[in-house]
Amino acid sequence: MVYLNIALTLLCFSTAMSQPRDISKMSSGGKLNPQQANMDIRHYTINLNVDMEKQTIHGNAEVSLNLLNQSDTILLDLLQSYLVTEITVNNAPAKFSHIDDKIFITNPTPFKQGKQLVFVEYSGAPPVAVRPPWGGGFTWTKDSNGNPWMAINCQFEGGKIYFPCKDHPSDEPNEGVDLNITVPSQLVVAGPGLLIKTTQQKDRKTYYWKTNYTISNYCILFNVGKYKVVSDTYTTVKGNKVPVDFYVLEVDTANAKKLIKTKIRDTKILEKYFGEYPWAKEKIGIAEVPNSGMEHQTMITFQNKFDYKTIGGQDYSANLFHEYAHEWWANKVTNKDWAHMWIQEGIATYAEALCMLELGGEEAYNEIINGHKRSIKNKKALVQGEEINTQDTYTGDIYTKGSFFMHSLRFLIGDRIFFPTLKKLATDPAYTYDNFVTTTDVEQLFSKASGKNLKPFFDFYLRTTDELNINIKETGYHKYLVKINNYFMDLPIEISINNKIEKRIITKEGITINSNTPPGVDAKGFYLKKVTYE
Ligand SMILES: [Zn+2]
Repeated sequence: MVYLNIALTLLCFSTAMSQPRDISKMSSGGKLNPQQANMDIRHYTINLNVDMEKQTIHGNAEVSLNLLNQSDTILLDLLQSYLVTEITVNNAPAKFSHIDDKIFITNPTPFKQGKQLVFVEYSGAPPVAVRPPWGGGFTWTKDSNGNPWMAINCQFEGGKIYFPCKDHPSDEPNEGVDLNITVPSQLVVAGPGLLIKTTQQKDRKTYYWKTNYTISNYCILFNVGKYKVVSDTYTTVKGNKVPVDFYVLEVDTANAKKLIKTKIRDTKILEKYFGEYPWAKEKIGIAEVPNSGMEHQTMITFQNKFDYKTIGGQDYSANLFHEYAHEWWANKVTNKDWAHMWIQEGIATYAEALCMLELGGEEAYNEIINGHKRSIKNKKALVQGEEINTQDTYTGDIYTKGSFFMHSLRFLIGDRIFFPTLKKLATDPAYTYDNFVTTTDVEQLFSKASGKNLKPFFDFYLRTTDELNINIKETGYHKYLVKINNYFMDLPIEISINNKIEKRIITKEGITINSNTPPGVDAKGFYLKKVTYE
């Protein structure tokens, strides 16, 4: 989701129609339960009827999983506010208890190692989103023509807000997801992957969406509205033809062509830096929703305001671009744990700067980077350990400091190494799709590519809130010692010597500069730092 200065507040909520659960303090991920560490999710099938008036859902989900070892218990996450009426495992009825938003499914004899098919029948009122997309849940509203309109967001809370799942970022369904969503027949369901078919029964219509790709549980979502589909075709950098489908509200159809044109331009920029559009076998999808956007895989969502800035004479939407960049940084390159969330949000935010570079040149790039720098609060480190949940990881500057860190790294290792390595991170199978990444993976990749040990640099800026403490000391006539007091690796820094900027390597002992005037350091601001003169 896009950067916003968020203060998470507890809000009370009630509706006359239902009693949805307050999930404003709920998180996703964190410490992986041993019973879930024993599971590998293979596939989800979600079959749901949506009652747009009562604001409820009912139906079932089938979870296909592998147990790594035999186990007494299969553990799935699902909000306790749903009524679970039946569970079977491999078509045999199973005992279960539903406590603290977890379903414990048990068997008199242990479930065997290997494949298990768990079927869960359930119903209830989903939680209502208080501040979407930052506060997740269902948003039930109407478009300006009075048609029902519904969106789901759950990045903070996880897929468990509406379907039984293993709610941890380290496990995605390797064989994808099938969604069968039934709504009133005048409405349309926008979902992930390919629309395989629709079937009509009386005044209800079922949309069968299928993705064969791995997908984060917080992206297994759908939106419902009086949509019209405006389409185009995009030919990727590798020559694959991909449909571009925009699920736009009928009332806003006039805005669709311009948005698609912007999207196609953005695709070319993203492909230039990060490689081919990741879901070329399915679609480039966009759905208009009543809240700021989210990175729903192959159906990113977009706010309904159609407002654009002009950069270098071209239309640009930061919301649209940021969510789209997540198709590479979040959906294709996925952090193994929320502890490393800066990789998804920080690099997606940095991608916005690269778009500025393409549209408006270095000046536009520097302007957005300086904006990111000014927004850094530096109260908490970006990486606060391991097995961190969503609520905790968002207390760090994962967007702005994450982006600024990439800017610093670009300067440190130079464009010739930086850009191909960033592309490798987004394209190498070791870091993409079925595989996950950590901060250490990213550090080791850039270290290897640059031939430098970058661990001290990554640790300094990502695992602490320290800034370089640079001291300039006059040691003689026109002689100055430039030293970094709290950093102990050779670091290139721009220094103004006799009013001319030179790139010098500062060693741990510091370097002596001969200059008629006190030297200035890092005037363009590639690093977070404090400078003192004595
Ligand atoms: Zn984001």
